[in-house]
Amino acid sequence: MEAKLNELKNRLSEVADLNAAGAVLGWDQATYMPAGGAEARGRQLATLGSLSQAKFTDAEVGRLLDALEPWAAQQAPDSDDAALIRKTRKDYDKQVKVSADWVARANLHIAKSYQAWTEARPANDFKSVEDHLKTTLDLSREYANFFPGYDHIADPLIDGPDPGMQASSIRSVFSELREQLVPLVQAITSQAETDDSALRHSYPEKEQLDFGLAVIKDFGFDFNRGRQDMTHHPFCTTFSISDVRITTRAQENYLADALFSTLHEAGHAMYEQGVNPAYEATPLAGGTSSGVHESQSRTWENIVGRSRGFWQHYYPKLQAMFPGQLKGVNLDTFYRAINKVERSLIRTDADEVTYNLHVMLRFDLELQLLEGTLEIKDLPAAWHARYKSDLGIQAPSDVDGVLQDVHWYAGFIGGSFQGYTLGNIMSALFYDAALQAHPSIPQEVASGQFGTLHTWLRENIYDYGSKYEPNELIERVTGGPLRIEPYIKYLRDKYGKLYTLS
Ligand code: ZN
Repeated sequence: MEAKLNELKNRLSEVADLNAAGAVLGWDQATYMPAGGAEARGRQLATLGSLSQAKFTDAEVGRLLDALEPWAAQQAPDSDDAALIRKTRKDYDKQVKVSADWVARANLHIAKSYQAWTEARPANDFKSVEDHLKTTLDLSREYANFFPGYDHIADPLIDGPDPGMQASSIRSVFSELREQLVPLVQAITSQAETDDSALRHSYPEKEQLDFGLAVIKDFGFDFNRGRQDMTHHPFCTTFSISDVRITTRAQENYLADALFSTLHEAGHAMYEQGVNPAYEATPLAGGTSSGVHESQSRTWENIVGRSRGFWQHYYPKLQAMFPGQLKGVNLDTFYRAINKVERSLIRTDADEVTYNLHVMLRFDLELQLLEGTLEIKDLPAAWHARYKSDLGIQAPSDVDGVLQDVHWYAGFIGGSFQGYTLGNIMSALFYDAALQAHPSIPQEVASGQFGTLHTWLRENIYDYGSKYEPNELIERVTGGPLRIEPYIKYLRDKYGKLYTLS
């Protein structure tokens, strides 16, 4: 068994190396590559992708899994090797069940659909992408049907980014959350608008970046095993547990953009840097789901980085860096500015309170499309109706409506959005558990100390990588299932004070 296990690990390590090489190319494409490199880069990425796919789905991997599974079943339930075999089996079955013909058609279609979207969006022309979206919906349904036996047709699509999560349970958690959020947003936005003009002076880019880097160094981001570069749409990518890259962007006239995207991506990166080094180059390396990943980025960006305690410590430093711009702006004014709640049309610009409404309506629309209760041609109208009912606003066009996010045009329908809100819910659940273990965390944050929180997260979440699926991780860390109460309490406490709600 020892020899078979080693052989499996060697094969998986080669797959991980090919994927990491692809990640390096993808990172370079989004940071330093000159425009002329695009065509060759696309080809190189496709070559690496198909080599990795072929190596992973090799029949010998299946035979090794068959041979090792009875042995794994006899190991302690907490055994890393047993978890590796369980996780590899699940990934392997997923990949071999999907036909090569479908993969080829899907890749070709997504390239076309994405191209069409880049033209349709500036032209406000939903009609021109309607047929593409119909094909995307057909392909999404076809994918789900490679995995018969699901409860909801969206389940196989959700299982990729959020393993083990299902449409029905997410739907009921989301509808509870929506019931709480709609009146909360109503109560806040009926008050006078928050003045955030302090964030909109001229802030030189270099100082903005220096400040963000100093903060994430204090958080515990390891610069010996990671770095930050500039891009258009910030992201985090992992080459190995010892080399995790983040990217950011800066707007000279908006202080919050670079800073909070750096804190956000650093949260993703610290998760990846914190995985047990023994999992290197196996399917257990890396975060366990999009939701748990997002919970970590939101913890550092929002729960920590937009808290009053955090700014008690950092605001004097920020003022020292930008004495002219922040002259006469006191801590409370600044704190209110970075937590301004408003009804807005664009998901990625939304504040903590309204953000989830943007996400949940997209999730519901995805389910309706897959169920066949909504047709693609009616999607723009359904979009506007939900913005009206949930956020009380209507986009003047589809550009800020159904054409705003790339997800459905460069991927599939189903599974694209739920991770963002699951992450917000989980961020409060996990933070609550950390506070129960260490009630001193808020005071430490208020003096610029993050070691206790970071260590707790590393020991309870990061270290496990993908060993546990999200529901199991939540149960282990919080002693119960996914639930919204800590998140609602967090929002009510924080925004109740900011907006003097009853
Ligand atoms: Zn994120």
